[in-house]
This record gives sequence, structure tokens and C-alpha cells, in this order.
Amino acid sequence: MSNSSLVNTTVWCAEGNYTHGRSGRNIEMVALHHIAGVLSAEQCGRIFQQSGRGASANYGIGYDGKIGLYVDEYNTAWANSNWDSNCKSVSIELSNSSVGGDYPVSDTVLNKAIDLITDIFKRNNLGKCVKGQNLVWHSMYSSTYCPGDYVRSKLDYIVNKVNEKLGLNSNSGTSSNDNLYRVQAGAFSKKENADNLANEIKNKGVDTCIITEDGLYKVQCGAYANKNNAINMSNKLKNMGYDNFIPGLNLSVEGQVQNGVAYRVNCDYPNIRSAASLTASVVRLAPRGEIIYVVGTENGFLKLNDGTYLKEGFADKV
Ligand SMILES: [Zn+2]
Repeated sequence: MSNSSLVNTTVWCAEGNYTHGRSGRNIEMVALHHIAGVLSAEQCGRIFQQSGRGASANYGIGYDGKIGLYVDEYNTAWANSNWDSNCKSVSIELSNSSVGGDYPVSDTVLNKAIDLITDIFKRNNLGKCVKGQNLVWHSMYSSTYCPGDYVRSKLDYIVNKVNEKLGLNSNSGTSSNDNLYRVQAGAFSKKENADNLANEIKNKGVDTCIITEDGLYKVQCGAYANKNNAINMSNKLKNMGYDNFIPGLNLSVEGQVQNGVAYRVNCDYPNIRSAASLTASVVRLAPRGEIIYVVGTENGFLKLNDGTYLKEGFADKV
């Protein structure tokens, strides 16, 4: 693992404001934040040097576009109000160009952010940049204003530019969302009903959007290239009390998981892998207590009904 060669200044974060290593997780995404102030990269870094601050980010971009390194990418910064997300992400703080309003950032900072995100994606082999999946932002995880309305309004632009630089924009200029799994929490003929539900869910920390289709206002929570991530979000919403389904899967999530024998995950966040091997890539982490459905065993792993694997011993038959 390495750090970005785009860094202009290094201000190492104080011990106690970050965690060594990544607790067994891999870097899977970049998380965006704003400083909620007009600071240089050095000034931002000094905040994370205050002992007991209990917060940090891997990188920060100052108002002048200079990039600061605070926490080695090898280590976990405390940025996203979500432990799993912290472990899996490289976080970037952006300096605002002025304070208040929609908390804008300058084009210089925006362009530097695009360069830095592209560099992180390249070095960590994160593939195509997908908003809400491997490019995430603080307010996806908690009811914070961070990274501000201005940065949130630029997410599609950032994703597009990053993919352009990665050479992965096959159909730039048009929507390339056809292969994404969307989690739909409701469809309404009246816009205000869709707005109400979207705001209610957003206030509980889940990012939502409303699309109009077939004369209906549809409330959706996330768009995922990976089916399992969509199923995770679907289960999360269900646990929050919101019925939902994933268009395109043509089955409710309940319908998805009825094959196989029910097991309950018996430890915190074991890895669900793409194949029956400890070296296979990690598809997701399973929360303790999750019910999984097992269709067989292979090489010391339980094979789940969606084709993923969990090491035997990490779940008990219900
Ligand atoms: Zn933040």
C-alpha cells in the first residue's frame, strides 16, 4: 500500500485520533468531507494533531489546492461516523472557499479532488467510480451536513471526471446507470408523498433520491453495481421499518433468500467472499445476527444461496 504522490505537505495525525491498520478490511472506496471552513492543508492537519480530537482524515485539500497527508492509507482515519466505512475508505477533507450558504469549494479544490480520487482509485484498483458505492460521502452515514450541498451537487460531475481520467467512461454524456441495482422504498403518484418519505429516510441517515418514471415518483436509496450491496441496503431499510424492493431482481429480497437452510451469523462482521477460499475477494461484511441461507459446503466454507461464501464456524444453524 502506498500514499499519493500528489501530496504537497505531510502533517501526521496524532496517535489516538486514528487506528493502525484496517482491521482486516481492504480499501474499497473514497469518502468525501468538507472542512466547514477556509483552511490550508497544513491548518487542517493541525486540527488532527490536537490530542483527544477523536477525528481525522487520510487527506485534506486546502483552499489553495495544496494536498495534505495526515493518516497513511495503510491506517484507518476516523472520519465517516461509521466504523466499517472508516475501515474501508480513504477519506478526503475539502476546504471550502467560503463559509455558509451551500458551503462551496473552489474549482481549484474540486479539480484537485478529482485528481486525488483518480490516483487513489488507480493505486488501490477500485475499478470504475460509482456514486454511492465506491465514492461515498459523510452524510450517507449520519445526519451531518458534511460534505455540504455544493459538493453533493457536484458528485455526478466528480464521478464522470474520475472515470474519464481512468479511461472508463464508455458512454460519457449519457446516463450509464442501466446495470445498477436500485433499492426502491416507495412509488407515489403525488410528488409531496415521495418527498415526505425521501426526507424521512434521509433524516435517518440514508441518502435518497426521487426519480420520475411511468408517471410515478419513485423514492430510491442508492444505486449499486454489486447486487449484494443492494441487498444489504434493502435489509437495512427493512430493519428501519421500510418495505422496499430491488427493481430488476424481479424478486423481493425475501424471495431471494428462501432457498437453502437458515443460519445466523455468530460474530462481528465476518467476511463474505466471492469463492470458497481465504484469498478470494471480500464481497461484503455480514453483521452479527444476520440470517443467511446456505445451500451447501465447499472447502470449509458455507455456500450461500446468492453464490457467495462464509467460512464455516461463523454462523450457526437456526
Ligand atoms: Zn465529514
